[in-house]
Amino acid sequence: MTTSLTIPFNAPCLIGKETAYMQAAMANRHLSGDGRFTQSCQTLLQELLDLPKALLTTSCTHALEMAALLLDIRPGDEVILPSFTFVSTINAFVLRGAQPVFLDIRPDTLNLNEALLEAAITPRTKAIIVVHYAGVGCEMDVIGNLASRHGIPVIEDNAHGLFGSYRGKRLGTFGRLATLSFHETKNFTCGEGGALLINDPALIERAEILREKGTNRNRFFRGQVDKYTWVDVGSSYLPSDLLAAFLLAQLESYEAIQARRRFIWERYERELADWAAAQQVRLPLVPASCDQAYHMFYMLLPGLRQRQQLIAHLKNEGILSVFHYLPLHLSEMGQRFGGYEGMCPETERISDMLVRLPFFYNLRDEEQTRVIETIRNLRLEL
Ligand SMILES: *Cc1c(COP(=O)(O)O)cnc(C)c1O
Repeated sequence: MTTSLTIPFNAPCLIGKETAYMQAAMANRHLSGDGRFTQSCQTLLQELLDLPKALLTTSCTHALEMAALLLDIRPGDEVILPSFTFVSTINAFVLRGAQPVFLDIRPDTLNLNEALLEAAITPRTKAIIVVHYAGVGCEMDVIGNLASRHGIPVIEDNAHGLFGSYRGKRLGTFGRLATLSFHETKNFTCGEGGALLINDPALIERAEILREKGTNRNRFFRGQVDKYTWVDVGSSYLPSDLLAAFLLAQLESYEAIQARRRFIWERYERELADWAAAQQVRLPLVPASCDQAYHMFYMLLPGLRQRQQLIAHLKNEGILSVFHYLPLHLSEMGQRFGGYEGMCPETERISDMLVRLPFFYNLRDEEQTRVIETIRNLRLEL
């Protein structure tokens, strides 16, 4: 056997044109936010997703903070979300004083269990946040109907789901607002970055103001006002145009990136199916209503012991795999908000079983072969 190098869990996607575009941004002499490359990324997202407005931000976390500001979330407001997600999904709202209401997930897609939603709504509910886990859409028909019947806005944390769709409609276009992440662990990246997707045109102007330190600078540049001034709260949520240049290279090649990710994902599914069935391991489930975004390849092991056995076995062969999410309702902060053991049983169970395999654009075929063969050589201690 040849000496084997470590296979990382993730490596940032590099498609090729990033350097040339960043050099072009330098030649433009516009390195701050909202330059030509920022505009190009936003226009491309608007066209591809068919939505009224996309604003690049410094992160998905910051886009979620903008969403909380745009909804005027205040102390005491309740925000419903799945417990099985990343902290930023709720931290952005907690920063404004919101009380999280943690809901359990569906055992099949690991998305918010929409059957539990109605009972969680109170007169203080100010938002429902959904996460399209692994880029597989939530049951947006049911969630959308319930939310509009109660007059509650839906926010999509679409950090996993760019270019996925539910019943033929793109993820990120269902909620009043949606957010994207371009962190290096995501399908498309500029290191750190994100976007706010605005589906309600009434929110566009205020979003531009919040993102520009609470000033009407955007209107000034469009010649709509003759001076720019402080008009609202706000912060600095614009990424540098250098980062937008890097990102544009990837967004322009989204079909190639997604096709490669789809190939890797389907190969894992195909070549691990027999092993999984024999070892009582469950592979991801994608309902017929969903075109997934190929963001992650996870497996559900029979339990915590087998999950740790697999991670250790892979590590022994120089292959890095990871697990997530620790249920938010059981975290230190979650418990301060009333979270307790048994509150979301499915989330607690799944959190012990899940493992994510190396999955990134530049993963080579022979590396994936090594991952698959190493897994197939393992007999779990059941
Ligand atoms: C990655 C991620 C975020 C945070 O994205 P950043 O761009 O790093 O702020 C938020 N929510 C989910 C579900 C994520 O996976």
